[in-house]
Amino acid sequence: MTTQPATRPAVDTPIVRAVNVHKSFGRHRVLKGIDMAVAPSEVVCLIGPSGSGKTTFLRCINLLEDIDEGRIFVGDQLMGYEDRAGTLHTLDDAARARQRRPIGMVFQRFNLFPHMTAVQNIIEAPTQVLRTPRGQAVQEAHELLERVGLGDRGDAYPSQLSGGQQQRVAIARALAMHPQLMLFDEPTSALDPELVGEVLAVMRELAEEGMTMIVVTHEMTFARDVADHVVFMDAGVVVEQGSPDQVINHPGQERTQQFLSRMV
Ligand code: ADP
Repeated sequence: MTTQPATRPAVDTPIVRAVNVHKSFGRHRVLKGIDMAVAPSEVVCLIGPSGSGKTTFLRCINLLEDIDEGRIFVGDQLMGYEDRAGTLHTLDDAARARQRRPIGMVFQRFNLFPHMTAVQNIIEAPTQVLRTPRGQAVQEAHELLERVGLGDRGDAYPSQLSGGQQQRVAIARALAMHPQLMLFDEPTSALDPELVGEVLAVMRELAEEGMTMIVVTHEMTFARDVADHVVFMDAGVVVEQGSPDQVINHPGQERTQQFLSRMV
């Protein structure tokens, strides 16, 4: 007789599972029933017009916003707290921070601490939250800076770095927490055009290394080349999703076609 493993292999569990997610700001219904599953090592690009709810959805995954209805799981973890009656509740700050720990997020604006060097920015969370010994955290920071092509800029302050370099430090800072999942919210949209490529190159490499990623982007070439799955959102709903070839090259829905025709 074979013994069954106590838990199912991790590969069966999606890294993210969103079910019927609703979110309003006041009367404004921004997410109207989003369903999405992201498998381990999958790269999902979220595309769609401005105001369609892409950023809000990412922020809900990371508990920067509380959802009104539905469920979001990251691995086996239900984000938020469900009582016995099945009502989802807001978490206190400590529980929120704990649930958010497997998730790294990179924002449009780089949000580095201006009074800290690149290395200091990167070691802040590992030393404070994970209690990683400082020496080890510094060594890891240098390795991460190498990985994002900034091995020689560890002592630089954000003001001494270009936007592209700051964004690469922000990526290194997120990676320092050993995330299971990386969320990117239009990471290149605040950059001068000539700096976009270096950030996308780092993201491309991360994807090749097997990082699970959800990327909100207007960079259609990146989405076409790097995404395993593209999700087109409009007005708070998923209009169309599938492979990059399906969604970007051969969109089936008129709203997707219109959006893409405006992108070129
Ligand atoms: P996208 O990322 O697709 O551009 P967003 O998720 O940023 O869309 O925004 C969707 C809608 O929600 C927009 O109309 C925006 O103004 C609104 N919104 C986003 N955040 C807030 C907030 N904190 N308070 C009120 N309205 C918000």
